Amino acid sequence: TERKKAEQRFRALLETAPDAMVIIDQTGQIRLVNAQTERIFGCRREELIGQPVEVLIPERLRSQHVGHRSGFFQAPKVREMGAGLELSGRRSDGSEFPIEISLSPLETEQGTWVTAAIRDITQAKRERDAAVRLAAIVESSNDSILGKDTQGRITAWNKAAEASYGYTGEEIIGQDVRVLFPPEKQHEEEQLLARVRQGEQVQHFETQRLAKDGRRIDMSLTISPIRDAQGHVVGASTIGRDIGERKRAEQRFRALLETAPDAMVIIDREGHIALVNAQTERLFGYPRERLIGQPVEMLMPASLRQRHASHRQGYFHDPRVRPMGVGLELMGLRSDGSEFAIEISLSPMESGGGEYATAAVRDISERKAVENRLAQYAEELSRSNQELRQFAYVASHDLRAPLRGVVGFAQLLKKRYGGQLDGEADEYLDYLVDSSMHMQALIDGLLAFSKVGQDSGFAQVDCERLLKQVETQLRAAIEERGALVSHDPLPVVRGSEMELNQLLQNLIGNGLKFQPGTQAKVHISARHTAEGWCFSVRDQGIGIAPEHRERIFEIFQRLHSSEEYEGTGIGLALCQKIVRHHGGRIWVESEPGQGSTFFFTL
Ligand code: ADP
Repeated sequence: TERKKAEQRFRALLETAPDAMVIIDQTGQIRLVNAQTERIFGCRREELIGQPVEVLIPERLRSQHVGHRSGFFQAPKVREMGAGLELSGRRSDGSEFPIEISLSPLETEQGTWVTAAIRDITQAKRERDAAVRLAAIVESSNDSILGKDTQGRITAWNKAAEASYGYTGEEIIGQDVRVLFPPEKQHEEEQLLARVRQGEQVQHFETQRLAKDGRRIDMSLTISPIRDAQGHVVGASTIGRDIGERKRAEQRFRALLETAPDAMVIIDREGHIALVNAQTERLFGYPRERLIGQPVEMLMPASLRQRHASHRQGYFHDPRVRPMGVGLELMGLRSDGSEFAIEISLSPMESGGGEYATAAVRDISERKAVENRLAQYAEELSRSNQELRQFAYVASHDLRAPLRGVVGFAQLLKKRYGGQLDGEADEYLDYLVDSSMHMQALIDGLLAFSKVGQDSGFAQVDCERLLKQVETQLRAAIEERGALVSHDPLPVVRGSEMELNQLLQNLIGNGLKFQPGTQAKVHISARHTAEGWCFSVRDQGIGIAPEHRERIFEIFQRLHSSEEYEGTGIGLALCQKIVRHHGGRIWVESEPGQGSTFFFTL
């Protein structure tokens, strides 16, 4: 009875043990197991009793185990099995799992047996591995990580913390975290700890800390409570990121923003203003505090807001540098309610993981006003030009007929009555004829001048053929003077044949006219230049003094009296107008007494 009772107590004890308990005899046969054994090995005790203990071991380890077992029985004592070894158990379905075993000898009437307490350490092993990995991550983090207790004493310190602050773990662990605080930030610790004790996490808290050498470090801190298994806050971890570089970059960026000539407005994806520069404050008339965080649409007239909001969303779908609203009239709205014309260029910007758009806003009301004024001037100018041309044309055209009458009758008078009146009357008649003919020439010239630019029918003009025509027209003058007109090969050009004819006629005619004596020579040539064809008309005449080389192209400007050389002073003005109509320019190179060369480009 006594023994039975003892046995029952023993079995009860066995069943309450938290581990699987397996009792084996000297031959390695399983004699007794508890319920834990059934549970962790996945089989019933009837299947185990009487079996060799090796059924609980993976096959690959069995033969080795038999040796170990007999070793144990030679010197049986309480001990950990295979300390430092990875031990494995085998479930009845063949799967393996990590175990930990402790052995103790058990004296029985049938000799020394052994009790093996077996623990499934799958979970513990997983946790241990995870902890090791976590520790490695903490160590290799670029962010400084420190642990502290609820009193603010430092309990953990990683490599990055050592690098940032300059303290080694040995130096700092156990000290009050406030050694890292600059004097004016000492109060922060109270507030931070209070929040952490409430279980709150403090994120991205930007502040300054002090390194061992007294250097200040700009930090962004994230402080999280550490809890024990019961969920009580027992301390806090502080992850610190050195944001000095970011701060400096930010400062540089802001400085850059302020130097921009335009108003710069940075908005986030939702269209809220994130940052502006001083020019924005000036342009729109708001202090920046009233802009930051507000929808950017506040800066535009109400009529444009809705359309802008959808444009804005469209922009973030395809963000790239571009001018905004090409061809649209964009308007800005000042704080005083006044509107003004603006021009905007947009560029996308990424910062801190967020997407932004930078708008450079320029007030173009001034430019618009100037543009409008210019357009107005241009219109007025073209109208008055039109009127002038019309006037010159009508005047010269309408004056021609009566003048022809005057000239005709003056000539008739001279022919019929010349020599019949007295000498004085003959002289008057001569004046009358000369003056009326001069006037006719003037009016013809004016008429021609007023017509230049009206011929827009440009065509291919063969200049050699044109020159022949001109020579024919000038034949009388050429023959009378015994002159020689020569030329190099001349190109085919695009232009108004009628005008180019007038141009050559005038230049060659002048060349002949301003070359006294016989055997006048005029030479025409052309060469291709960057400006197009450049023609030259060279004579060996009287030349032109430098101070007159510009003036001669003005209308009615002559260097000589009609007695010396007849003319109207219209010829070169006409030439200039024709050349300009052809997109070119005209000038003269000359040496007084050595001849002149007129150049023009087409
Ligand atoms: P016009 O020949 O009727 O006087 P132009 O306008 O053709 O008027 O010429 C203006 C002036 O330029 C001339 O009066 C003359 O003094 C000067 N000029 C023009 N061509 C020559 C030339 N080939 N040689 C010297 N002087 C010239």
